[in-house]
Amino acid sequence: MQDDKSSRKRKRKSKIGSSADPSCNDASIICDKRKKVVKKVELPASSTVVATNSLKQSKSNAFLDKMRAKLSGGHFRMINERLYTCTGDEALSYFKEDPSLFNVYHTGYQEQMFHWPEQPVNIIIKWLKSRKTSLVVADFGCGDAILAKNVKNKVFSIDLVAKDPSVIACDMSNTPLDSSSIDVSVFCLSLMGTNFPNYIQEAYRVLKPSGWLLIAEVKSRFDPNNGGADPDRFVNAVSQLGFTLISKDFSNKMFILLYFKRKEEKQSSKGKQIEWPELKPCLYKRR
Ligand code: SAH
Repeated sequence: MQDDKSSRKRKRKSKIGSSADPSCNDASIICDKRKKVVKKVELPASSTVVATNSLKQSKSNAFLDKMRAKLSGGHFRMINERLYTCTGDEALSYFKEDPSLFNVYHTGYQEQMFHWPEQPVNIIIKWLKSRKTSLVVADFGCGDAILAKNVKNKVFSIDLVAKDPSVIACDMSNTPLDSSSIDVSVFCLSLMGTNFPNYIQEAYRVLKPSGWLLIAEVKSRFDPNNGGADPDRFVNAVSQLGFTLISKDFSNKMFILLYFKRKEEKQSSKGKQIEWPELKPCLYKRR
């Protein structure tokens, strides 16, 4: 029985490409699903070699591209984890040592964002467009400065590395912005460092009285059933710093949005005394 099968296999093989039939090595042979020769076009031997080589080349290029994508995806996840588990100061030194890591990070970040049905930065852009263009904005952790590029307002774009000359490169817990000079402070997926309360405190310092604080953050970081922070505790801590919650939007699957206004009166307690909930890192899955 076994012998019968293998001899049938051998016979089939010799029909479609064995060395016994050299014409079957011709790359121009088109076979149907059952590997039966259905059409044959004569080509000079040299073109067969070229076709075979270019097929091999494109296969190996595709393989290399796949490997490169895997490596840079892994590199992105490593940098991302690092940024969520160190302070802003440490993150600044990390990128100062090797600024090219910033591009690796942002290429991976864009790849992740591509899979999100909606980008939080676009909601913030819409929000700003529905208001006066005279509002001065500070975009804390601006990345590619998409916000500044899409609104008419004056925007101070801040990040650890300046990808664009318009970006102020610094740790956002300590910016060169003047106190009480900003109408809208934005944190769009940028509360990454373990000392994130310092960033919000800096936003408070630069905001004018009654200025806006907009926070968009990854939803899973505020899901207490999965190790995330209690959103009410977070709102409470921000309020103690000197803000009033105006509205919140938890309707999106991927992120939450919080809209605060700076209280007119001076803040009552210093950041240190406030009990901030821990915000767990947002670690992206391998795709
Ligand atoms: N807000 C942008 C980019 C979000 S990615 C957008 O929505 O498209 C988060 C950004 O925050 C990264 O570019 C990161 O470098 C920046 N960031 C994180 N910690 C920071 C810090 N301490 N100071 C300045 N920028 C910071």
